[in-house]
Amino acid sequence: MSQDLEKVLFTSDQIQARIDEVASQIDADYEGREILLVGVLNGAVMVMSDLQRAMRSHVEMDWMAVSSYGAGTQSSGVVRILKDLNADLEGRDVIVVEDIIDTGLTLSYLMSNLASRGPASLEIMTMFRKPDAAQMEVPVKYVGFEIPNEFVVGYGLDYAGRYRNLRDVGTLAKHVYS
Ligand code: 5GP
Repeated sequence: MSQDLEKVLFTSDQIQARIDEVASQIDADYEGREILLVGVLNGAVMVMSDLQRAMRSHVEMDWMAVSSYGAGTQSSGVVRILKDLNADLEGRDVIVVEDIIDTGLTLSYLMSNLASRGPASLEIMTMFRKPDAAQMEVPVKYVGFEIPNEFVVGYGLDYAGRYRNLRDVGTLAKHVYS
């Protein structure tokens, strides 16, 4: 699997170190409050699991699934809720946990949907963010790494369902998708 990568952008160790930093920042910001982490399936599974284990606060987690890219590498702009939350967001301190923000289309739809459910607070944590995401209106409070405008895989991020289980994050070699 790792021979399908053209370039490693972040090693597993670098990712874990950054997760620890972000977790400490969230712990400090939410001292004494109980957070509901909302993960976006499937990409956020790795970051959700590592982030909450690095945190010292009490946390609960819940999951949503929305449609995104399918098997290609271009954003379709079509967002559909495939699986909704079990939890009631009324009065809760909610942090949406994302793998990556590219155009921000997925997230801006999701945030207006979640905001209408009456949470006490609603913030976003994303492991990776691409430059185009800066154009979106929803402010992202916690960012793991800013990355170049390239299609990346690993650490939960897939290409046609594969590579989510790579520990490092990198760009795919052309022979994989051409
Ligand atoms: P957006 O709506 O922000 O353009 O895209 C959000 C979703 O598209 C992400 O949650 C992720 O599933 C997918 N995505 C965006 N960029 C990448 C990328 O570089 N690699 C992979 N594997 N998925 C991406």
